[in-house]
Amino acid sequence: MTSRRKFLGMFSSGFLGLGLTGRAAGRPASGQEAGPPQVRKYNVLGRTGLKVSDVSCGAISLFNPNVLRYAFDCGVTYFDTAEGYLRTLSETYLGQAFKGIRDKVVITTKHALQVPKDLDRAAIIRRMDASLQRLQTEYVDCAFVHNIGDLGVLKNEEVQAAYAELKKAGKVRFTGFSTHNAKVTLDQALTEPFVQVVLFIYNHMEGPALEPLVKKVREAGIGTVAMKVFAGNQQGRLKGLVNAATSYPQAAIRWVLSSPLIDTCIPTMSSYAHVEEYLAASDRALDRAALQTIARYRREAGALYCRVSCGECLPACPRGVAVNDVLRYAMYFEDYGMEKEAIRYYAELETGRKPIDCRDCRGACENACPYGLRVRERLIRSHDLLTA
Ligand code: SF4
Ligand code: SF4
Repeated sequence: MTSRRKFLGMFSSGFLGLGLTGRAAGRPASGQEAGPPQVRKYNVLGRTGLKVSDVSCGAISLFNPNVLRYAFDCGVTYFDTAEGYLRTLSETYLGQAFKGIRDKVVITTKHALQVPKDLDRAAIIRRMDASLQRLQTEYVDCAFVHNIGDLGVLKNEEVQAAYAELKKAGKVRFTGFSTHNAKVTLDQALTEPFVQVVLFIYNHMEGPALEPLVKKVREAGIGTVAMKVFAGNQQGRLKGLVNAATSYPQAAIRWVLSSPLIDTCIPTMSSYAHVEEYLAASDRALDRAALQTIARYRREAGALYCRVSCGECLPACPRGVAVNDVLRYAMYFEDYGMEKEAIRYYAELETGRKPIDCRDCRGACENACPYGLRVRERLIRSHDLLTA
C-alpha cells in the first residue's frame, strides 16, 4: 500500500508538463522556505491512473480564477467543483482559470440527482453538457453524483445509461460520488462498478472510525479524495490556536495525508493565503508539534463540531430533523464564510426536516450525541441564523 504513495518524480511526468518548471526539486522539506510553498508529492488516484497533487483544491467558495491559477502554478493539479457551487459560477471560474492548460489539470465536477425528479437520461446529459460549456472543456476527468446517502440512485437505469453515454462520448473519463454518509456508502461502493473515485469526509475526528472501510475501498482500486479535512474549521473561534507555532490547518492536512489510504484532499482554497498555507503541508510528515496542535483542537473544539458523517442522534429525534445537515449549513455560514450559500442550502431542505419545533422538545438528540454537543440549542440558533 505504501508504495502507491511514493513520490512521483515531478519532472518525469509528462502529465504534469511545463507547469512544474522550477518547482520543488531540491527544496528543504520544512515548509518554511522563502517564496510560495509548492506541492511536493503526487499520488495516483486509485485505478484511474490520474496523477494528483497530495494537497488539492476545493472550489466551493472561490470567487477568483486567479487564485486557481496561482494554485496550479504552485503545483496543484486536482481541482474540485460542482454544478451547485455558487449556482454554477464555480465551474465558470474553473473554466476561465484553465483555458489553454486544460491538459495539465484534473477537473472533477458533481451533479446532485434528486429522486425521482432528476432521474432522466437526457436531462443528466444536458446538465453535463452545460457544465462542460462553463468549464470550457470537452471532458471532465471525473463526474461525481453529488452528496448521496445511499447508492440506490446509482443503480437507476436512467442514471447508468446517461453516464455510460457520457463516457462513450469522451465527455466523462471516470465516475464516482461524493457523500456525507461514508459509513453506508463506502461499503456499498465496493460492489458497484460505477464507482471509480469517492469523495468523502475524512479528518482527525471522523477518519479513525472509517479506516477499516477506507482500506477496503483502496483495496478495490477506488480513488480516495478527502474533504472537510479541518474537522469543522473552528480554529477561528479558538484564540489559542491562531498563533500556535504549528498552524492548525496545516496540522489537520498533515494528519489526513499521513494515511496511506488517502490519495488527495481538497481543502477550499478561497484566497492566495489559503493556497500558501495549505500547500506548506504537502508531503510533510506529522511531527510532535502538529499532533499537539491537533490534540488541542480536539480538546477545545470537540464539543463544538458536529461530525457530519456521524448521524448517531438521528434515530433519537421523533420529528425526523436533519440534525447533521442543519448543523453543517450553520458551519458553512459561521466558519466557512459562505453565508449566502448556507442560507440557500437551508432553504432547499424539506420543511419537515428543519428544526422548527425544537423549542417544544426535550431534546432526545442531545442525549444521543456521544460528543457532548448542545444539539438542541445549536439547532434553534442555526434555524434563526439560516432564516434571517
Ligand atoms: S430538539 Fe427534539 S425535535 Fe429538535 S432535533 Fe432534537 S429531538 Fe428532534
Ligand atoms: S449532533 Fe452529535 S450525534 Fe448528531 S450528528 Fe452531530 S456529532 Fe453526531
